[in-house]
Amino acid sequence: MNLYVGEVLGRYGFLDGHPLGMDRQGAFFRETQARGLDKRAKVGAPTQPAARDAIERFHTRAFVDKVANAERDGLKLLDSGDTPVFPAVYATSATVVAAALDGLDTIMRGDALRTFQPIGGLHHAGRNHAAGFCVFNDLGVVIETLRRTYGVRRVAYIDIDVHHGDGVFYAFEDDPDLIFADIHQDGRSLYPGTGHAHETGKGAAAGTKLNLPLPAGAGDLEFFTAWRRVEAHFEQHPAEFYVFQCGADGLKGDPLASLEYSPAVHAHAARSLRRLADAQAHGRLMAFGGGGYSRPNLAAAWNNVVAELLVR
Ligand SMILES: [Zn+2]
Repeated sequence: MNLYVGEVLGRYGFLDGHPLGMDRQGAFFRETQARGLDKRAKVGAPTQPAARDAIERFHTRAFVDKVANAERDGLKLLDSGDTPVFPAVYATSATVVAAALDGLDTIMRGDALRTFQPIGGLHHAGRNHAAGFCVFNDLGVVIETLRRTYGVRRVAYIDIDVHHGDGVFYAFEDDPDLIFADIHQDGRSLYPGTGHAHETGKGAAAGTKLNLPLPAGAGDLEFFTAWRRVEAHFEQHPAEFYVFQCGADGLKGDPLASLEYSPAVHAHAARSLRRLADAQAHGRLMAFGGGGYSRPNLAAAWNNVVAELLVR
């Protein structure tokens, strides 16, 4: 298993007390080392940005230009308020994409079965815009690269971040080969306000998307009940490759949201997806950290995922 931790990735974050600060990777990795998990994985990450043409497999050229020129143009924000410009925003965001693509290439070469990238899973960015702390959508680039470079069409996308994965969902809403499942806090009480149960895909993709909103205050029991529907969804719609966004902001005590999971949720989901990927997709599974703003919570949840992905 490859674990994508590196100095440049660690600098993806915002200044001035923003909840997505630059200390999250360190909070995760100190716990990885304390549990000895780093000794069992290949640890490293690219230091150079992904090529523009790779980023443009998902994003529009105009949006990539906007990010590339943001500092020169003196932009303060990349969206309407959540996603400020930060030092080296383009190079750092493009290096998050580079790490995701390195993971994908490594798996497709057969040099690893699974990857985990804590600083990644930026699921709110859309094809032509930044949103919700997310500049470039590394998940979207991976999905497009699977199709265009590797000819892999049927991709499973699972998202347990407390926020709905709108940047991925709406980009592939009418795509019947993106099998999607997302458990999140109900959009009526949380950003981004989407991911209603009736949103099941459009046109030929109807029925390939599963949105399972939970009410504020829901915890492990509600998650495990919802997860049985996720498993049934992927048994009904098998995929050739698994992509997992495992945001830790659904855990009890997160400063931005109000679900009450324990870290057992992350272990359960990762174990289940490992088995599904082994059964359907030659074991191919990429996992990304996503959100999570309590440092102890993200350290516990994500290392539970790493521990499951290390099981042979
Ligand atoms: Zn989130």
